[in-house]
Amino acid sequence: MPAIDETAIGQVLAASKAASASQVREVLAKAQALRGLDAEDVAVLASVSDPALLAELFDAARTVKEAIYGRRLVLFAPLYVSNLCGNECLYCAFRATNRAIVRRSLNQDEVAREVRALVEQGHKRVLLVAGEAYPREGFDYVLRCIETIYATRVGHGEIRRVNVNVAPLTVEQFARLKAAGIGTYQLFQETYHRATYEAVHVAGPKSDFDWRIGAMDRAMEAGIDDVGIGVLFSLFDWRFEILALMQHIRHLEQRFGVGPHTISMPRLEPAAGSDLASQPPHPVDDVAFRKIVAILRLAVPYTGIIMSTRETPKMRQETFALGVSQISAGSRTNPGGYAEGKDVENEAQFSLGDHRPLDEVIADVASMGYIPSFCTACYRLGRTGQDFMDLAKPGLIKEHCDPNALSTFLEYLMDYASPRTKAAGLTLIEHVIEGMQPEPRRRSETMLEAVRSGRRDVFC
Ligand code: SAM
Ligand code: SF4
Repeated sequence: MPAIDETAIGQVLAASKAASASQVREVLAKAQALRGLDAEDVAVLASVSDPALLAELFDAARTVKEAIYGRRLVLFAPLYVSNLCGNECLYCAFRATNRAIVRRSLNQDEVAREVRALVEQGHKRVLLVAGEAYPREGFDYVLRCIETIYATRVGHGEIRRVNVNVAPLTVEQFARLKAAGIGTYQLFQETYHRATYEAVHVAGPKSDFDWRIGAMDRAMEAGIDDVGIGVLFSLFDWRFEILALMQHIRHLEQRFGVGPHTISMPRLEPAAGSDLASQPPHPVDDVAFRKIVAILRLAVPYTGIIMSTRETPKMRQETFALGVSQISAGSRTNPGGYAEGKDVENEAQFSLGDHRPLDEVIADVASMGYIPSFCTACYRLGRTGQDFMDLAKPGLIKEHCDPNALSTFLEYLMDYASPRTKAAGLTLIEHVIEGMQPEPRRRSETMLEAVRSGRRDVFC
């Protein structure tokens, strides 16, 4: 289990308070070598407030993002299967005693209905989300939902990767989750500051800080090598949180040889029946939020950064360039929300900042020159954990990512896009192909031709 050293974090932050411009530039130069940063470097960047230096920080993040991820942006949708919960997280609408929402957990027919609605929009990747109180079957409920999701097809569309965000499990349960064929197991510590954690998680199994922070160790012990960590920003000082996040990452790297696959960075949003959510104790403003994305991109260049629809379209657009590599789109956080076509405020977990349908998000992403990707190749070819990092670090993964992004984007355009999005997307594909190196270009052209002639799920 990672032991968060709060004293060390306090000392590093205090020492970097008066970091000079030359110290900042030294760290930025180091970051551009793509080997990541240590705690002292992260603290130096966190101290930047001068607008000119901030601009240099953002430029460095853009360079690193472009070098590692190119112009791809992976898309997914959260699938909320149940809002039943036995915990008392004071910021969440799903908390046990909250009477402001209607409780609902989907049966397997309803899960399949949600999946059909998502597949008909063009989604290929979902993140299964649930509160911590399952219907009668207990944890088996989650396994049954995963089985239903993978078994549901509409025409030649299907969900090809199910990531999971559910409460911490035992090693034995994690092993069953792995056997169910999940992609990433995702869990946010919410806050790494123990006293704050205890003050906002007042009852239920989640009130045990240690059980939660040990979850990724248990997942990895059970053989799940793709894990996603995160912080719920605005509960405590963001500078502390990112340094603690670094300690968690280094712990996983030291113990298992591989760090997390993704980092999520939700900010607290208003939630029905929660005063805490509307009055965040440590609000993170938009400048600080962009800074967090940029610093994480430099500190852990090979770890994906996920931005959800909690944020507005404008903030999402700005952070693509700074380091975000995955986004959710067209999301609903109320169970049943996709098939019923509505976002029901009194069943949802929190307020969304981006309400646009998938097609509109895709048109927007493409108009900014990013390639929307539905790729699920690595996970299905077993390129996960250490195998993934072995390809990512020398820059070899790009040779797979770019062709896979293009082929899955073309699938989307041919099968699901509106005429306007399709026209804009086809032009983007032409443009991207023209700028490619000969080998990936040849591979991409072969794969795109296969998709044009009717084949689906073409990947390398
Ligand atoms: N129940 C499980 C748990 O707590 O880990 C998994 C699902 S929970 C619905 C997923 C995440 O939603 C939480 O980890 C938390 O970070 C986030 N969340 C809860 N309330 C929120 C709010 N008001 N604004 C933004 N994110 C919130
Ligand atoms: Fe339940 Fe998760 Fe919400 Fe906490 S954050 S109340 S555990 S659903």
